[in-house]
Amino acid sequence: MQVYTCPFCGLRDEREFFFAGEAGAARPDTTGPVSDAEWAEYVHMRRNMLGRAREVWMHLTCGELFVMERDTLSARVLGSVALRGAPGGGEGADGAGSADDGPDGEGTP
Ligand SMILES: [Zn+2]
Repeated sequence: MQVYTCPFCGLRDEREFFFAGEAGAARPDTTGPVSDAEWAEYVHMRRNMLGRAREVWMHLTCGELFVMERDTLSARVLGSVALRGAPGGGEGADGAGSADDGPDGEGTP
């Protein structure tokens, strides 16, 4: 069993979490025409990185989404950041970045 950190609840059993996808996928700009290929790329194509990866997870107990950075080779968790303001972190915390390198600039998950 692994233990993951919810930014809101702290350390919890991995069975309380749901994988929601890779972080950083940029949604196509829908202010103009979007091709089927662009939608397919956004919806289906994943990098599936070996090593350090940023992923969106949901803690099923509190229902919050957050970004977890982990090493997919060793399964070691490197950090967790809320997608919205965490308790004590104030509103407006972007939460899109990793625990140590800030926002990636690739858009929201
Ligand atoms: Zn939680």
